[in-house]
Amino acid sequence: MRNHFRFKSFFQKNFILNSFFVPYLCAMNIFLQKEPFFIAGPCSIESKEYLEEIFMAFQDMPITMIRGGVWKPRSKPGFFEGKGVEALEWIQSMSRKYQQTFCIEVANKEQVEKAIQYGIKAVWIGARTSVNPFMVQEIADALKGTSMAVMVKNPINPDTELWCGAIERIQAAGIESIAAIHRGFSSYDNSSEYRNKPIWAIPIEIKRRYKQLPIICDVSHICGKKNLLLPTAQKALDLDFDGLMVEVHPQPEKALSDAQQQITPTEFKHFIKQLIIRKSSCDSVQNEIESIRSILDTMDAEIIELIAKRMNLVKELGKPKVLNNIVIFQQERWRQIVKTRTNWGENNALDNNFILKLFELIHDTSIKMQIDLSKSIQDENAGLNSNPL
Ligand code: PEP
Ligand code: MN
Repeated sequence: MRNHFRFKSFFQKNFILNSFFVPYLCAMNIFLQKEPFFIAGPCSIESKEYLEEIFMAFQDMPITMIRGGVWKPRSKPGFFEGKGVEALEWIQSMSRKYQQTFCIEVANKEQVEKAIQYGIKAVWIGARTSVNPFMVQEIADALKGTSMAVMVKNPINPDTELWCGAIERIQAAGIESIAAIHRGFSSYDNSSEYRNKPIWAIPIEIKRRYKQLPIICDVSHICGKKNLLLPTAQKALDLDFDGLMVEVHPQPEKALSDAQQQITPTEFKHFIKQLIIRKSSCDSVQNEIESIRSILDTMDAEIIELIAKRMNLVKELGKPKVLNNIVIFQQERWRQIVKTRTNWGENNALDNNFILKLFELIHDTSIKMQIDLSKSIQDENAGLNSNPL
């Protein structure tokens, strides 16, 4: 079992040395330890009393940093928008009293300046901000020359380049301590059980590009409800995320923002006990196999989702063909598919034969689906025609 207390004091010592978030191959990078770290705290800071309750509750827990929103980006006006500078004063005095690091969200230059003024050591850039290169640049410029640790949440839309761009703007400002946070993506289609659906392939790609960049999973904003927190956190750890961000509130049902997804400090204590922390993949071959397999599972699930989407489009394509009496299987189109797909395969070092077989299967199934569609349209028309007026 991990020694959380040793971890915490190691963090604090390194934090003072300003080296806890060093992304690119640095011996002092705390996140290179194969121990997941936890950032927890309320969605927003609502009162001095609640804040102190959180500081006290976390005293005997393995928390790397406490989080809490000072300025809250609300979708619509008329809701609680945070306590602002008043909350910064509380954070400053309690961080000193409890010797605990605190992180807040910043969304513009003025907020960065206030954070610096009140001794804040770590900030995150929210999803509604990382989507906007102008705002990220403004924040990066305001952070220049400071030793602030900066966490960059993914933008609200699943755009890998935009996320990378935000990370690189912070990097270019000379900030050494950077981490990325996956908080899921918003979608028009709300059939998903998640509030913001995770797309694991994207943080995996970020990790591939910036090898030493720590990646944190914000399970609260992904899930939007308590019952999904544990499986989602476990999944993130199994995918080798470096840390978790969890919203914790003394009385979640009374919270002024995100009441449904927050848990109590006691629930949080239980939550971390239930997590299975796997050993470092360097420790044993079995562990390495497991971690790769879990990435493969995720990728396969995504391949299947993509094939399903392709099949839906194939059905769409079938309608104009059938209604305009166009032949379903077209030799020229098939020749083109074989040529392009095998070329793409070659560019990615994939065997021609494998790609050919794969697309024979996909194309065959697509053609069968369109033939079925054609039959059902014919049957429908026959039914209509035989219907006596
Ligand atoms: C938050 O962490 O409180 C928050 C507003 O998150 P996000 O930017 O992910 O919506
Ligand atoms: Mn929140």
